[in-house]
Amino acid sequence: KLIVFEGVEGCGKTSQIQLCCQWLESLGISVVVTREPGGTELGLDLRRLLLEKSEDKPVAEVTELLLYAADRSQHVEQELKPNLAAGKYILCDRYTDSTIAYQGYGRGLNIGLINQLNYIATGGLESDVTIWLDVDVEVGLSRKSKDVTLQRLDRIEQETIAFHRRVQQGYATLAASHPSRIVRVDGSLSKQAVQQVIQEILRSHLQL
Ligand code: C5P
Ligand code: MG
Repeated sequence: KLIVFEGVEGCGKTSQIQLCCQWLESLGISVVVTREPGGTELGLDLRRLLLEKSEDKPVAEVTELLLYAADRSQHVEQELKPNLAAGKYILCDRYTDSTIAYQGYGRGLNIGLINQLNYIATGGLESDVTIWLDVDVEVGLSRKSKDVTLQRLDRIEQETIAFHRRVQQGYATLAASHPSRIVRVDGSLSKQAVQQVIQEILRSHLQL
């Protein structure tokens, strides 16, 4: 089974994936934890290139899109398909919806094109269920930079915040158009409460 976790910065994907992994393993299930970008050796190099972009080292928008697609294609072939074939449960931090939310809604690249590219990169492999951890952009960003006050963050990163708001809107739109695959979880609750909700969703979706 392929279980994907999505959401804006600081929504809690990483900690929820860890808790989920412990829970599934306690049920005797064999689990693989992975992420995009960076779930393979090649992907780690691509992740570094993507996250190190700066004014000195710009990455054009379409280049960025293609690098995410390259990371995904490698990840699907090398990591996802073999582990699914071996009957494992995969917990994946980001997948195709991230590209639609970030490069599509965030950067404004053509969604039809991104869908095509996602199809090329995945060969049509979709998640069995996608957990969207929904938190306010401000909450997420402040979790990510606890030492900076919210107002300061707002002033310093105004464009960034507008960008993340569009990403958030993208997730909301995606969830509304794929109600059986994408399940929204209120990510503002406590870590344990969020985990409870996720476990209930997985129990019913995956008949655990
Ligand atoms: O999930 P994680 O926080 O590790 O993602 C790394 C970074 O890559 C994030 O800052 C996210 O905004 C960015 N990203 C992106 N477009 C994607 C996937 C991730 O801009 N399609
Ligand atoms: Mg994370």
